[in-house]
Amino acid sequence: MESHILGFPRVGSARELKFALERHWRGELSAEELLGLGRDLKTRHWKIQADAGLSLVAVGDFSFYDHVLDTAVMLGLTPERFADRDAPAFPDRYFRMARGDAHRNVPAMEMTKWFDTNYHFLVPELTPGMVPRLSCQAVIDDARLARDLGYRPKAVLLGPVTFLSLCKEYGGMERFELLSEVASAYREVLRQLAPLCEWIEIDEPILCTDMPLAAKASFLPVCAMLRTAAEGARLILGTFFGGLGDNLDLALACGFDALHLDLTRAGQELEAVVGRLPENMALSLGLVDGRNIWKTDLARAVGTARGVADRLGRDRVFAASGCSLLHSPVDVDLETGLDPTLRGAMAFAVQKCREIGVIGAVLDGGDRTEALRENAACLTARRAGAGVRDSEVRRRLEGVTPEMLSRKSPFAERKKLQNAALSLPLLPTTTIGSFPQTAEIRAARLALRRGEMDQAAYEARIKGVIADVVARQEELGLDVLVHGEPERNDMVEYFGQMLRGFAFTGNGWVQSYGSRCVKPPVIYADVSRPRPMTVSWISFAQSLTKKPVKGMLTGPVTILNWSFVRDDLPRSEVCRQIALAVRDEVLDLERSGVPVIQIDEAAFREGLPLARADQEAYLTWAVECFRLTASGVGDKTQIHSHMCYSEFGAIIRWIAAMDADVVSIESSRSKMELLEAFREYEYPNDIGPGIYDIHSPRVPGVEEMAGLVRKALAVVPAGRLWINPDCGLKTRDWPETMASLANMVEAARLVRAECLAAT
Ligand code: GLN
Ligand code: ZN
Repeated sequence: MESHILGFPRVGSARELKFALERHWRGELSAEELLGLGRDLKTRHWKIQADAGLSLVAVGDFSFYDHVLDTAVMLGLTPERFADRDAPAFPDRYFRMARGDAHRNVPAMEMTKWFDTNYHFLVPELTPGMVPRLSCQAVIDDARLARDLGYRPKAVLLGPVTFLSLCKEYGGMERFELLSEVASAYREVLRQLAPLCEWIEIDEPILCTDMPLAAKASFLPVCAMLRTAAEGARLILGTFFGGLGDNLDLALACGFDALHLDLTRAGQELEAVVGRLPENMALSLGLVDGRNIWKTDLARAVGTARGVADRLGRDRVFAASGCSLLHSPVDVDLETGLDPTLRGAMAFAVQKCREIGVIGAVLDGGDRTEALRENAACLTARRAGAGVRDSEVRRRLEGVTPEMLSRKSPFAERKKLQNAALSLPLLPTTTIGSFPQTAEIRAARLALRRGEMDQAAYEARIKGVIADVVARQEELGLDVLVHGEPERNDMVEYFGQMLRGFAFTGNGWVQSYGSRCVKPPVIYADVSRPRPMTVSWISFAQSLTKKPVKGMLTGPVTILNWSFVRDDLPRSEVCRQIALAVRDEVLDLERSGVPVIQIDEAAFREGLPLARADQEAYLTWAVECFRLTASGVGDKTQIHSHMCYSEFGAIIRWIAAMDADVVSIESSRSKMELLEAFREYEYPNDIGPGIYDIHSPRVPGVEEMAGLVRKALAVVPAGRLWINPDCGLKTRDWPETMASLANMVEAARLVRAECLAAT
């Protein structure tokens, strides 16, 4: 029986790739050394897969930055602004595409999230006159290297239909006009890979979404073109992150030699697929979750695989990971700081390879009794683990009543009370929460962690920063102030560290983009809040000013979406537990006299399932959790929320259903889209579409921002419009922050005067 993974994490168990990339960018590591490290990592990862007993090793999954960028490079689709003939294609031009060229003022390619993950890819650009043709041999070289080392390589390619669907079109381009040229380039790759690989995987995760018609129409013709080019090699159609839904017929008709299903997310489709699988097609079973950190229930996985093998024949079944292991950390054996029972319940990429190896071996008749027994024992130990189930939390959740999900009065009445309490001007100004995290703040935190600074000294330092931030906001003339979040390293980790039910890995890094990695907290037990988390900082800030200070919290949906979540409770249930805990904090803030509270839901949109059929269920419980968090306060307390990314057109009704008094949404990167949504749907509460992009150090001018405010006024009445930046200012420097905010306040004044003159 064949066994494989869809990809291995690239960063290395000690984040070697990250550090090497950063040294290379600083000019401290040569291109040859960087390439050498890449070769080391690849060979190390192949060995891990082979040692785990996998029959195939993945090649083409490694990348020095991003696999979508690599595919664009492979196809020769370099945007004009990078087409500098003198520069070597790798690494110079490659990294300029990824990171921009500050010297020549050439912006990088745009970045966006990879399906419903927190991984970001670079968005390929299609402009008129581009001619796709095979321009890079990297995957072929890797396949040859793996073969020379004695492995059976399985090349993994991002499929042409998904690739084209992820591109952005400029200058009147129609992406699918390039289809036949793109397919020809792929045919060339396949022709060269065929002698090296028995199996080649073509990933088309776009099949797990509601595909646009043009993509649908192109799918089967492309498959036909690829099939004939693969010659001796056999093709696997890779699908993941969801079920195939309406696209199942297309997938079954592709004519490839195998179909891969992500059973961790499409389990319900297995029966239909097995029943209808064409006779000459094998089925690759994605049994091991590539996006979480828990051990697979091996007895169950073996049972599933056996059931399928009995019906299809063993030679038509593969054991596999659900998706690429790119989204999982590397090696749990390095987590020596974790509680042993908890660690025993976890599997990172290395361990996941071994799990797949065991499933394959058992199906092949091998004796893996010991491995299965140990797996079962670890799972039982975890379920029985101390503190996993907290009866007080369960009792409180059962006691949640419908009244707890609603504010006392409708928005219009709340608004009157809040206006009277806060006495805000028309077009009030505010910020999203964080102010520059300076080197001194980070140094203080490090010193505290290392024991070089005591708690009292640290708190005094942070209070000094808060006082400075409050004074600067008063000087700028902002209307609703914030404390600046200097005490937080990260908006999820900070709360996780103070809540019960969270654990933290020492080394559980996952690539977010390029050299950037995140270390998501682990929710392993029932969540509760032992004591207030933010009250002392925020009431300190409020004590310094007569202006209203806005308390800052991270919302339950975002905490959930940016953590590794236990798999023994539905996500909705875990989210409700977090919601109750944060609700307690909201009420404590109100009690201590904080008049405005912002509950950030930066990752609300990210958790939206890919298939439309599953979206409503998610939105229903996600909105409910937000309301549970926010609704305990009195009418006079003003609740804000904030969301990143502006693709909200389709879900704006759900955002309205959250019933925040004010919501700020990132929008300057694609403002027209957001305003378009308001034209079609009258958002009922107050709203602050961000009027300047905080992702860039550029200082926007007064007129520029005033123009945006006027534009927003065309679709949002003045009485409900707020003036704010796009997101937090954490990554910016003070001088540009002060200059930008001064201009923003001035723009608000200007347009406010125009509004008042008009009435
Ligand atoms: N309040 C947070 C901040 O300003 C929000 C961050 C975010 O939306 N990603 O940093
Ligand atoms: Zn944001």
